[in-house]
Amino acid sequence: MHNASALTSDPSRSLCQSPGPRPQACPDVQAEAQIDLRLIATSDLHATLLPYDYCANRVTPGRGLSEIARQIAVERAQVPNALLFDNGDFLQGNSLADFVASTRRRRAHPMITAFNTLGYDVVTLGNHEFNYGLPFLSSALARARFPVVSANIATRLGRSPLRDETFVQPFAILKRTVVDREGRMHRLRIGVIGFAPPQIEVWDGDHLGDRIRMRDILTSARAWLPRLRARGADVIVALAHTGIGPVEPQHGMENAATALAALPEIDAVIAGHCHLAFPGPGVQPRPEVDPVRGLLAGKPAVMPGHSGSHLGVIDLVLTRQTSGPRRWLVQGAAARLAPVGNGAAQAAEPLRRAIAPDHRAALAWSRQLLGETRIPLHTHFATVAPSAALELVAEAKAAHARAALAGTAWEGWPVVAAVTPYRSGGRGGADNYTEIHAGPLRMRNVSELYLYPNTLAALVLTAAELSDWLEQSASIFRQILPGSVDAPLHDPDCPGFCFDVIPGLSYAIDLSQPARCDAQGRVLRPEARRIVGLSREGRLLDPAEELVLVTNSHRANRARRDFGPMRTVIATGQRVQTVLADHVRNLGEVGTAPGRNWRFLPMPGTSVVIAAGVGSAQHLGDLAGYRPRVLGCDEQGFTLYRLHL
Ligand code: MN
Ligand code: MG
Repeated sequence: MHNASALTSDPSRSLCQSPGPRPQACPDVQAEAQIDLRLIATSDLHATLLPYDYCANRVTPGRGLSEIARQIAVERAQVPNALLFDNGDFLQGNSLADFVASTRRRRAHPMITAFNTLGYDVVTLGNHEFNYGLPFLSSALARARFPVVSANIATRLGRSPLRDETFVQPFAILKRTVVDREGRMHRLRIGVIGFAPPQIEVWDGDHLGDRIRMRDILTSARAWLPRLRARGADVIVALAHTGIGPVEPQHGMENAATALAALPEIDAVIAGHCHLAFPGPGVQPRPEVDPVRGLLAGKPAVMPGHSGSHLGVIDLVLTRQTSGPRRWLVQGAAARLAPVGNGAAQAAEPLRRAIAPDHRAALAWSRQLLGETRIPLHTHFATVAPSAALELVAEAKAAHARAALAGTAWEGWPVVAAVTPYRSGGRGGADNYTEIHAGPLRMRNVSELYLYPNTLAALVLTAAELSDWLEQSASIFRQILPGSVDAPLHDPDCPGFCFDVIPGLSYAIDLSQPARCDAQGRVLRPEARRIVGLSREGRLLDPAEELVLVTNSHRANRARRDFGPMRTVIATGQRVQTVLADHVRNLGEVGTAPGRNWRFLPMPGTSVVIAAGVGSAQHLGDLAGYRPRVLGCDEQGFTLYRLHL
């Protein structure tokens, strides 16, 4: 309904131009009018505006909001009444986003420009909106020509959710003139409410401090939803930047979409955050989760992938009660994901034109030459063997920390750095690996080596705590029984970005032991130990001895949750990307063959299977200790390898 005149000029369009199946209304309801209302949604765009990968410096057809814009035009043309939403995590995720956040500019943020251009009706906030700080977020949102809603993000908590000072408006009531199947016009009030994971308070806690206070999603929903009804909402849509999760509410739950869907007031749910495609075969069916029909707790729901991979579409049929309060009721619903990149290319032209100057500036920024690498830097095997790419990041962080600690009480302390393979396949697919050839290193390669805009932090930890830290990482592996053959090594519930290595320490991982932690890093089995022989410079560490660990703000926030208060020795707000770019600029030439600081404990007669990306076969030297063998490719394009332990 971004274009009311188009709606009303030819109301019969809905009857004669509706290809595709229309959701069936319940036949035994004698209703005087039926309205078809289409909800169109994007989620987790992560600043992917154009089908272009700034890191790889190449076009990625069939991805990005400009490709989606073509499909949005198709979906809008099919129905008389359509609304367009975004479900959060739009401000962060690529070099365009990092460039905009690191440069003073007068132009509106290109994501906001894009939403304005495409006529978004309502947008909610995801956790990544907070990565660059509140002033940046507020100034980006100031240019929005659409309501931004979120009910559980507060600047000050009141005695009850309704008394909170929310960061943006908790909900919006859209008043729209809609056309029914007979061509008659009606006024409809569509309530749209937003939610985000309460973990924002922890994840970005270092810079948000107490300026952002989160409410539990379900607690907020139960408080606010009756208010939407009282304001006359005929239909209520939840923009839920949260994963599918269980139907039973748990306080503080990160993934609450199913529990939300179960609330009686909610008619449709846009889910997100977990980057899944729903409905779709990637989601396991459960009693409250129907991945074929796209139902959560019986309500229509979509999760439109990530980075512009899918468009979510929910079609509602509304019927007016013939007696009583004559409310509109949802009598039928259908949820689906639409593939992107279909429809006329010209539908994307206004968006492409509007953001062209931003794209050009981001390209120039991302192509700046910083130095050179002597060897290829990649993450194909970074969760199974030491990686030169990760070691470069660790070296940059440790060098920065040593310099920063000079002249403080911690000068001369042992400093080690933890690093993470952010791009290591998984749901990101077989292209989701860092892959930098020997030769020039540019700003775009820094983004490829270090994806997130988080900042450098250094903590004092005991060797026992460092061991626990590594246990959390080692929980990404399944337990491997000695003598077993070709067992899958990785636990599919634990993404590669949960895996930290500490190149300054030596250790082995005993895969015959059970994992100590779950996918969220919480301790499941306190007695379980996989990390053995933790040592530094050839000497076993005493559990009580203290070291400085350089990490990032995100992990430091988690460590405070898990280990309690600890000594923070560096928290200057310096971005790790900047530290890495400066390091390469200062040295000019970087990159040394990976060390041998960690490995799996040998298990004779035992083999495991791992997946690696396109192009991984060129780097088999990294796996020398495991006699790797290519087994073939899987249907997602990953190359499968057998490793002998
Ligand atoms: Mn996301
Ligand atoms: Mg998210």
